[in-house]
Amino acid sequence: MEKIVSLSKRRGFIYQGSEIYGGLAGVYDFGPRGVELLKNIKHSWWKANVYDKENYYGLDSGMFKHPRTWEASGHVSGFSDPLAECKNCNTRIRVDKELAKIGVTADEKMSETAINDLFDTHRDKIKCPSCGKKDFSRSRAFNLLVKSNLGDFTSEGTEPVYLPGEACQGIYLDYKNIVDSMNPKIPFGVAQIGKAFRNEISPRNFLFRTREFEQADTQYFIKPNENKEAYERIKKERWQWYLSLGINEKKLRFKQHENLVFYAKDAWDIEYEFPGGFDEVEGIHDRTDYDLTQHQKFSGVDLRYTDPETVEKYVPWILETSMGMGRVFLAVLCDAYHEDQMDGETRVVLRLAPHLAPVKVAVSPLLKNKPELVAKAREVYALLKKEVPQIMWDDNGNIGKRYRRQDEIGTPFCVVIDFDTLGEKPELKDTITIRHRDTGEQERLPISELTNFVKTAII
Ligand code: ATP
Repeated sequence: MEKIVSLSKRRGFIYQGSEIYGGLAGVYDFGPRGVELLKNIKHSWWKANVYDKENYYGLDSGMFKHPRTWEASGHVSGFSDPLAECKNCNTRIRVDKELAKIGVTADEKMSETAINDLFDTHRDKIKCPSCGKKDFSRSRAFNLLVKSNLGDFTSEGTEPVYLPGEACQGIYLDYKNIVDSMNPKIPFGVAQIGKAFRNEISPRNFLFRTREFEQADTQYFIKPNENKEAYERIKKERWQWYLSLGINEKKLRFKQHENLVFYAKDAWDIEYEFPGGFDEVEGIHDRTDYDLTQHQKFSGVDLRYTDPETVEKYVPWILETSMGMGRVFLAVLCDAYHEDQMDGETRVVLRLAPHLAPVKVAVSPLLKNKPELVAKAREVYALLKKEVPQIMWDDNGNIGKRYRRQDEIGTPFCVVIDFDTLGEKPELKDTITIRHRDTGEQERLPISELTNFVKTAII
């Protein structure tokens, strides 16, 4: 993980948030390369969940929501993690995660009493990560919602407007608007990528557990009790999507929740094997009618769906997929990171799937002090850029150094314009060299075929 963190900074993927002020724990910024990789992952997700479907609708709801939202959802009363404090150095730990590390099954959904019973039994095995002592306070529920002061002009009698603890609530609030404006027939889905904020007790593992992050969610609205088949299909589709990112299937696994919340019928996570072991990237939840029933109760608005044929009215059940963008981004980076031997030296290479690579092609003149080479290379660059925006001009250092740098960014192709391009060997006039990232192999291609070659390779 240290190597990934260092490469991310060195090559402009991820920076620590507010770094010049010493950083802000649990907040990261996506740099110029990171933002392109993130966009490509989002595009791939949106394509799979909106464009490739007939009955899914996209949404982008406002982050701030009416305070009732978080009461209806249960976040105000129950969105908490078990926290204990080291009595020696005040470091806070998340008790369920520390118990899990020593092989004790525990999670944040357990009651305060149940988690304290387990904590008391095993506290002699849990060390403070900062000072190493084993002297902790009792575990207490710590609410993760982040409060804002939106509209709070007097502080008296105003209810806090929270930042979203999860992005999906926007879909429930707009469910009726979508039904009224789009006239979808059940079953149908709504897809959204939105920000979420959580006061995580101990943000850790780089992008894995942050306090600000993005979630990509789908909510699939179905007739009551018609959950089983659709749930299995959704699980398969989500698995396939990870494979479409080029992720090694051996590093993925499904894990079923042992401890279901009272309204849920089933819940599975898709986990990726990060350097520290398998951990959750996405949750797939069979949630019954809980969410819409809660919002119906708290808002007083009828959220029942009327079947257009039978005129039957019911509150739809929901099958949810909820994925953390930062976690997928991290999984993609970890999976792509390789060190191998090339040209007699060890190189670092990101073997990103071409459609995800932040830079698809680096275009270079063989020598930057030869104006005729630079002019021709500029021509090729401009031609390609018209149709493939994620390319870059690279004339920094010698060709070997450029290749190493592009390997670290994950650029699948490097194009070099040399004297043969200009016609030194007449049969090679107007051809370029294209070098393949993974094998280091080079081939010559007519300039007229370059755009199509790249477009086909990056689909
Ligand atoms: P965890 O048990 O790891 O805290 P969770 O079960 O609370 O996660 P959900 O509320 O189901 O997570 O959120 C859906 C997805 O959002 C998760 O699968 C994860 O990918 C992502 N996610 C949740 N919390 C964070 C976080 N603090 N930082 C980054 N991503 C997160």
